[in-house]
Amino acid sequence: MTDKKVDKVKVIHGAGGKAMDELIGGHVLSTFTNKSAGMIGLDNLDDGATIEGHDGKTLVLTTDSHVVSPLFFPGGDIGRLAISGTVNDLAVMGADPVAMTSSIIVEEGLEMDVLDRIFQSMEETCKEAGVPIITGDTKVMEKGNIDKIAINTAGVGVVNQPVTDSGFSPGDKIIVTGTIGDHGVALIQFREGLSFKTKLKSDTAPLNHLLKLAREAGKITGMKDPTRGGLAAALNEMADKSNLGLTIYEAEVPVKEAVTGVSDLIGISPFNVANEGKAIIMATADTAEDVVGALSEEPLGEDAKIIGEVTEERPGKVILETEVGGRRFLDAPLGDPVPRIC
Ligand code: MG
Repeated sequence: MTDKKVDKVKVIHGAGGKAMDELIGGHVLSTFTNKSAGMIGLDNLDDGATIEGHDGKTLVLTTDSHVVSPLFFPGGDIGRLAISGTVNDLAVMGADPVAMTSSIIVEEGLEMDVLDRIFQSMEETCKEAGVPIITGDTKVMEKGNIDKIAINTAGVGVVNQPVTDSGFSPGDKIIVTGTIGDHGVALIQFREGLSFKTKLKSDTAPLNHLLKLAREAGKITGMKDPTRGGLAAALNEMADKSNLGLTIYEAEVPVKEAVTGVSDLIGISPFNVANEGKAIIMATADTAEDVVGALSEEPLGEDAKIIGEVTEERPGKVILETEVGGRRFLDAPLGDPVPRIC
């Protein structure tokens, strides 16, 4: 795990795959000693951490920085992403988000109009999620010292019983709330100026209302948002932490035709790129169909499907049953193939 021989930070260290695991294991977890204020702390590397003992409620805390390039892209922008990313990390912990902070670093020379559009988008997304920004900070750096803008948001939520990314059992079903790969593939297509006649858009959206419906519809035993490194990275993390096997039926995984087309053309897998408006949900076998039914009634969950199940076979591994009936490991990528994606 330790990566002390590498003497410089590389882009791949932030790309959500094995290289980032090395950075976090070898440099973060090895340095910080006070790792927990509740049941789930830094050591657990979950989507958020818990703080116990506030009037019998558990608080969930999370933080996320956003450096996406370009700032505006089909289906979203850095502002919508900065709110959605943090709201979703709270929502997949089973929490109801209560409030957020926003800390912004701007490059000297950024047009005020661009800043206003980003702020407006943040406000609209906050309204959509029903979560206010209640404190923040803004710093400006000299031209050339930062690329336009970086936004950090933190969020706090409340939860009765946190949902982790490893609490599921053999027999539980694996659900995705919609199509896979939309954000990463839309971004690379737009960034590269590829002139496909697709209407491909990022899926960036806050999922707290949708995931609350899922929690009410069935017994949820695990959740995670498949951001950097995509479905493959998130499932491998869940398999590794739970020490259970995850079997995925390739034919059941919803992928838009345009996403498959562009991915094939540029030689990436939709399974390895970021989603910013999707969640992986584990539910008990007897309630999984009810969860999918509840999700399907909502626009953000209309393509929800059961894509696999938790097994005792191959602990710690993700097995992909391919469309032609083969079986292979679905490995975590070294890093998301698309840099500066969120
Ligand atoms: Mg997450």
